[in-house]
Amino acid sequence: MPVLHLDIAAFRRAVLAWFDASGRTFPFRGTTDPYLVLVSETLLQQTQISRGGPAWVTFTGQFPTVESLAAATPARVLRAWRGLGYNRRAVNLQRTARIVVGEMGGVFPPDVAALERLPGIGPYTARAVASIAYRIPTGPVDTNVRRVLGRVLTGDPARLRPKELQASADILVDPDQPDHWTHALMDIGSTLCRPTRPICPDCPVVSMCRYAAGERPTTLAQGSRPGSRSGRARTRTGDFKLTTRWLRGRILDRLREAPGPAWTTFAEPIGGHDRAAIRTSLRAMERDGLLELEDPPDSPPDGAAASRSGGSAPAVPRARLPIA
Ligand code: SF4
Repeated sequence: MPVLHLDIAAFRRAVLAWFDASGRTFPFRGTTDPYLVLVSETLLQQTQISRGGPAWVTFTGQFPTVESLAAATPARVLRAWRGLGYNRRAVNLQRTARIVVGEMGGVFPPDVAALERLPGIGPYTARAVASIAYRIPTGPVDTNVRRVLGRVLTGDPARLRPKELQASADILVDPDQPDHWTHALMDIGSTLCRPTRPICPDCPVVSMCRYAAGERPTTLAQGSRPGSRSGRARTRTGDFKLTTRWLRGRILDRLREAPGPAWTTFAEPIGGHDRAAIRTSLRAMERDGLLELEDPPDSPPDGAAASRSGGSAPAVPRARLPIA
């Protein structure tokens, strides 16, 4: 087990003392309400913290309790999520709220495994909610924590298998302050132990860190490997408008702009996407719970349209945000 070389008590003291003095403050860190913690963790999964903080204030202003989120229409939730991307997070968040209210008496389970069974909640989010809201000594592992613990324990996060990493994170968590511990490791990973050029001289665990001791990887720095960040950057700047993700975002934008429960038709191409591509995305988005569809009157069923019309493009159903 890679934690064996560590003085675990000294490691915890150093991390928590640094957090007391230098930890970041965010509006969502002032709560232990599991619902509000879950909203923050869900928002921050794919949204930068500079945007996630204000977004959390706005979203929880509209839906301050798990009951209020459960009672809202999905359309209202999806409109509130505008600009935050990865809209399935909003759908899953509300599905979880409805399960918690409808089947659990409005109380989130104080248990990692039970939390993981809720829609959209994975191993990281379950542990984050458990440690922050219920102060259960469990170690959430996201990319920041993986980098910090991987460098401290072995010099290179790639040397740790996921199970070893999770087991190490669970052993290291401070049992008296698991909430502060979770925040502290996140902050060290974000502000000091950056993917490139970590600020080791300012780090509270520099004397215990194998990366800082020179046991670092000799390959390219994490995050600059060919085909990783650079590849994604090319996709963002070049061909993004040709992706299904871009198309789905534009479809949702159109539906958000529609008044109330009015249906929206998609008669014209969107960007470089023709009617067949739009239709395929609409069907997939319906399956994801992002919208409702209604086929045009006298529309033949799926699969029959193309053959009856001699191969012409099938009709595109009209759509709206879900209202129930
Ligand atoms: S000493 Fe450097 S590499 Fe090690 S955890 Fe701190 S910032 Fe990261």
